[in-house]
Amino acid sequence: MTIARRIADAIGVRPSESAARPVGSAARPSESAARPSESAAPRPTLEWQVATVSRIKPETARAKTFTLQLPNWRPHRAGQHYDVRLTAPDGYQAQRSYSIATEPERTGEIALTVELIPDGEVSSYMHGVLETGDRIEVRGPIGGYFVWQASDPEPLGLVAGGSGVVPLMAMLRHRAAAAGRQPARLLYSSRTSHDVIYAVELARLHAAGDGAEVFQTLTRGAPEGWSGFTRRIDAAMLREVLGPLGADVRIFVCGPTLLVESVADALVTIGVPAERIKTERFGPTGS
Ligand SMILES: Cc1cc2nc3c(=O)[nH]c(=O)nc-3n(C[C@H](O)[C@H](O)[C@H](O)COP(=O)(O)OP(=O)(O)OC[C@H]3O[C@@H](n4cnc5c(N)ncnc54)[C@H](O)[C@@H]3O)c2cc1C
Repeated sequence: MTIARRIADAIGVRPSESAARPVGSAARPSESAARPSESAAPRPTLEWQVATVSRIKPETARAKTFTLQLPNWRPHRAGQHYDVRLTAPDGYQAQRSYSIATEPERTGEIALTVELIPDGEVSSYMHGVLETGDRIEVRGPIGGYFVWQASDPEPLGLVAGGSGVVPLMAMLRHRAAAAGRQPARLLYSSRTSHDVIYAVELARLHAAGDGAEVFQTLTRGAPEGWSGFTRRIDAAMLREVLGPLGADVRIFVCGPTLLVESVADALVTIGVPAERIKTERFGPTGS
């Protein structure tokens, strides 16, 4: 039996059960929670709580957004994440990090957008088992490095691959909610047009004409009439999209590990100082 199956069958953080269970304190910290920047975070932030799933919205065939009502909601900063923990009756636990998709201005709830990873332990559970009304253990907000505030006046450059768009969407939503007027440009790489997460909202943001612009590239085929890029992100594309933001730009890059590393290298190649680039890696593959 696969581990994912074991979780789905056994746990089922069919959370009425998990809520009855003590919220544990012995969990191994996630890789992100172990970052030095977080060791200084106030302790209450890292308490586990049992959230209720109030809405599940399909974004693409492989990505769903889960809106969670939190009994102990705390303000977050755009770019931060929550940890999700699943616990089986035999004590087996699986824990993963998921970026907050929603803007800090929305109180009482957060949304997490999760991409289904084939055979992925936690993402398979969330896609295949979790239902509206279920409860699930989470803790956060976590992260003090990959964060942005609308009060930061510098131009904002965002580069995403796949589900790496999630924390960057929180930044764009925050900018819109706070009526930020610094120029902002998102360069977003997806496999095909069917894999574009938040497609409608991104089009709306771009059309709003308030200084936020969205540029897209499709790496595995584009529909007829497509006017965006059709190749992997490279130095020329980064120069074309982010160059107009000028020398003061602050850049956030998020996505699969290989994409993040190649984009960061290319940014340095085109002369962006490394201290203006912040990166977040979601996973081990770039395919
Ligand atoms: C700070 C942070 C924020 C994150 N935010 C998000 C988010 O908003 N949305 C989201 O969907 N994911 C996000 N992730 C990734 C997430 O934490 C999990 O790694 C991912 O959901 C896979 O977990 P899993 O249990 O389903 O797969 P696992 O059981 O851990 O892995 C199954 C297989 O898939 C591979 N794999 C693991 N992760 C990935 C990945 N991301 N891409 C490709 N292959 C992978 C593994 O190497 C393994 O072979 C974030 C990660 C970090 C560190």
